[in-house]
Amino acid sequence: MTLDLELAAKIIWLMFIVGWGIIRYRPNIKSRKVAKTVVSRTLKERFSMVISATGLGYIPLIWIFTDFLDGFDYNSNIVLLVIGTILLLLSLRLFRLTHKALGKMWSHSLDLREDHKLVTSGIYEKIRHPMYTAFWVWAIGAAFLLPNWIAGVSGMIGFGTLFFLRVGQEEEMMRAEFGQEYDEYIKRTSKVFPGIY
Ligand code: SAH
Repeated sequence: MTLDLELAAKIIWLMFIVGWGIIRYRPNIKSRKVAKTVVSRTLKERFSMVISATGLGYIPLIWIFTDFLDGFDYNSNIVLLVIGTILLLLSLRLFRLTHKALGKMWSHSLDLREDHKLVTSGIYEKIRHPMYTAFWVWAIGAAFLLPNWIAGVSGMIGFGTLFFLRVGQEEEMMRAEFGQEYDEYIKRTSKVFPGIY
């Protein structure tokens, strides 16, 4: 019996999504209870959230559950499958750590909440945007895991769009709120990948 790598990739990706949903479930409920004091959800921000969800989630789902994208399939191999799986596991670990550190300060979008504190320790000590690191690792992991040219790369394009449109706005919002404390934090941290970016 040969291992059906495409089926394995689909199952692993779906398990990853379930795991991610479980990690986000509680933070979502907790943070919703805390009032927002600043909401910076511009049109650009809303647009980029839709693009990101489409690339990371909806396009792979279309590939998994329909045959629309089958023309773009290629043959996977066990090495790609294993690398993709390891990256997705790493991504889940990073999501868990960032949610733990942000607690009720977390938001899907660009918001500040009542009594918002700047988190600068733990996973936030050397990286300013470790949750975006987790999303990049997700997107890159999916590119290794999913043997389809569209469903594989759509996450990098989708999340990349959100990241580059959002991160400047987010840092501006944080600087407006935390002033010098944030400037100093910027000086001693990397954006997403320690030592690289
Ligand atoms: N960019 C961060 C957080 C993503 S969640 C990361 O990648 O880890 C987005 C929300 O987190 C923003 O609305 C902002 O209010 C909040 N946030 C971002 N960095 C923060 C920090 N260092 N401390 C506290 N809240 C932060």
